[in-house]
Amino acid sequence: MRDTIVVGGGAAGMMAAIVAAEAGERVVLLEGSGKLGRKILISGNGRCNLTNMGADDLRHYHGTHPHFARTALDQFHLEDTLSFFGDLGLEFREEKRRRLFPMSDQAQSVVDLLEDKMRGCGVEIETATKIIKMERDGCFVVWATDGRRFEGERVILASGGMSLARLGADRTGMDMAVASGHRLTPLEPGLVPLISPEKYLARLQGVKLRAEVSFASAGGRRISDTDDLLIAKYGVSGFTILNLSARLVPQLRGGPVELRVNLFPNQSPEAISEKLQQRWQRHPHRTLALSFAGLLSAKLVRPLLRHWGYDLERPVGKIDKKTRWHLAQQLTSWPISVSGPRPFDYAEVTIGGINTADINPDTMESHLVPGLYFAGEMVDIHADLGGFNFQWAWASGVMAGRRRGS
Ligand SMILES: Cc1cc2nc3c(=O)[nH]c(=O)nc-3n(C[C@H](O)[C@H](O)[C@H](O)COP(=O)(O)OP(=O)(O)OC[C@H]3O[C@@H](n4cnc5c(N)ncnc54)[C@H](O)[C@@H]3O)c2cc1C
Repeated sequence: MRDTIVVGGGAAGMMAAIVAAEAGERVVLLEGSGKLGRKILISGNGRCNLTNMGADDLRHYHGTHPHFARTALDQFHLEDTLSFFGDLGLEFREEKRRRLFPMSDQAQSVVDLLEDKMRGCGVEIETATKIIKMERDGCFVVWATDGRRFEGERVILASGGMSLARLGADRTGMDMAVASGHRLTPLEPGLVPLISPEKYLARLQGVKLRAEVSFASAGGRRISDTDDLLIAKYGVSGFTILNLSARLVPQLRGGPVELRVNLFPNQSPEAISEKLQQRWQRHPHRTLALSFAGLLSAKLVRPLLRHWGYDLERPVGKIDKKTRWHLAQQLTSWPISVSGPRPFDYAEVTIGGINTADINPDTMESHLVPGLYFAGEMVDIHADLGGFNFQWAWASGVMAGRRRGS
């Protein structure tokens, strides 16, 4: 019998296994697929954005009770992540949005270093070992699909979320938690492109631009993000959309939400109206469509102006002030309705998971089943794009790895 069984060899499970083994526990880590850390390998386009300079800020973490994440993030700060991986030999590079990547630019190096550390501290690793059943009869017993059974004094469930079924993601881990009495909050795709019912967007398919995108939260607060916006046949994507989706998807349960897109980030309609006036006074003979050449992409402007009902061929010298003002307002507050997320196969995280009311935030141990711990994405906490989801996985993994009181 082992002291600790870890179910799931992703970011959270590997971290939990290391912490438990370093404290002297006999640990076995059971990973369902043939490889450790498959999501780490594909993360950040194969480069793994493993944390963020702003990782200690609770505002980047979401869920039914986002404050649940506070203790783990306080116990395992950004500095701790940097020194943990630094000790393993990983050096960091900071990129746009304060994201941190390995200097090697290879997610594989993150997995290699974690695996090396696990082996170094004596973690027994069993891949291709998918756990489908868990029982507690004095100690814990878990069964793999091939009939093997493992016994342990405690179990850490770190079996991840629902995104990317092709990498082995499914809800067996969550179902085992539910079978032992834990509640599950609704599961939805997060950090995901959004579907729009607006048919004309198909004519803008493939357009990529930098824009400020915002929406009004249920409480009326405007939430915005400035970065890439991608128009697709089904709706919208890009860094802005993926990031806003962390907070927007739960709101979509109540019906479609209107995004507002400012094609000139941080600029007011007044400033844009003035800019147009200057451009139009300089070249009054140009058509409305041509008047944007060098300012906005023609692939965007032409279909958009047409959709808004403008005459593209009208010389700008003949356009009155009221029309110019109206156009400036549209360009700085273009409404796009979104009705739902794309499916889990397009999502980076799962929104929802094991109800945090059933877990002790100070230890990550279940309130219902002593000796059962949770870590990572399977818990009802998800975070913004930019390395925050891994920070949650590392921090909650560390908490779960520490046995209560150790
Ligand atoms: C395309 C993509 C890119 C991403 N990029 C980033 C990024 O750059 N930065 C960032 O912070 N986050 C990123 N994420 C999110 C991040 O990968 C996850 O939040 C993180 O991996 C969660 O870690 P975890 O250990 O909780 O779960 P996982 O990494 O999903 O690990 C769970 C493990 O458990 C195994 N498992 C599941 N069920 C069982 C079972 N029954 N028995 C045994 N094993 C089981 C799975 O095979 C898996 O290996 C990205 C996600 C995706 C999909």
